[in-house]
Amino acid sequence: MMIHLDHPPKSTYPQTLNPINSIPKLSFLRSLMPPFPSNTFLRLPPKSLPFSHLPMSAVAAKPRRLRGVVFDMDGTLTVPVIDFAAMYKAVLGDDEYKRIRAENPSGIDILHHIEKWSPDKQREAYHIIADFEKQGIDRLQIMPGAAELCGFLDAKKIRRGLITRNVNEAVDLFHQRFGMMFSPALSREFRPYKPNPAPLLHICSTWDVQPNEVMMVGDSIKDDVACGKQAGAVTCLLDEKGRYGSQDFANLDLKPDFKVSSLNEVHSLLKSNFDLTPRVQNPDSTSGRGPPFDNL
Ligand SMILES: [Mg+2]
Repeated sequence: MMIHLDHPPKSTYPQTLNPINSIPKLSFLRSLMPPFPSNTFLRLPPKSLPFSHLPMSAVAAKPRRLRGVVFDMDGTLTVPVIDFAAMYKAVLGDDEYKRIRAENPSGIDILHHIEKWSPDKQREAYHIIADFEKQGIDRLQIMPGAAELCGFLDAKKIRRGLITRNVNEAVDLFHQRFGMMFSPALSREFRPYKPNPAPLLHICSTWDVQPNEVMMVGDSIKDDVACGKQAGAVTCLLDEKGRYGSQDFANLDLKPDFKVSSLNEVHSLLKSNFDLTPRVQNPDSTSGRGPPFDNL
């Protein structure tokens, strides 16, 4: 089920909740306004949705141009195969795992945590993490809908990039095994890594686009949504199992702009909420010196 957290369709609200209809004095002004385009929404999240913290506003949003989508890899472009809880327990020990988990309901940032350790202890921890990641590589599977979504983005001439906290070797293997390229594709060798916004800002800079023209798609609020929000990008949480609907996450400050339960839902989300029309270049430039469109 796709949930639109930022601009819910006007039609989903009872008339009594529509701020324009509920103010009689505005009826005259409303009659002078042009009709809303069919893909225009009001910023009025219903209380029944999670993440319904956004302010009420009657401003009709013009579809935003989208020029790039950046994906997380593990659990987003690939089916989750790494048992992160087992990995954290192996690195931290059971008692320390329970203590840190209780302090961090949105998840443990294991890479950040072990950075404070002594070099020897760090080396041992990285060795354990690498073992788990290798098991993940051996069982790597593409996420359903990923290939179709990439085809859709290519058809719209929208760039696609990748940011992962996994190692570069895993990214290379992903590219080789599934035959779809993401560029730039930044692994944890790029410092600082997610949730720091640096890798996403680096990709925007490489593409020469503004962060607010880019969507960050990932399955982690603490890494992917945090990275996207801090960079000023649009964020989309992939929540296959509905784990972010639970009370554990109800009070988190970080809220994605969109939430989907599969990559297949991202097509319709993009079509409904963004201007995907490739920008037409100067007609003089269409005389054989490059593509006629410039959404790249
Ligand atoms: Mg992930």
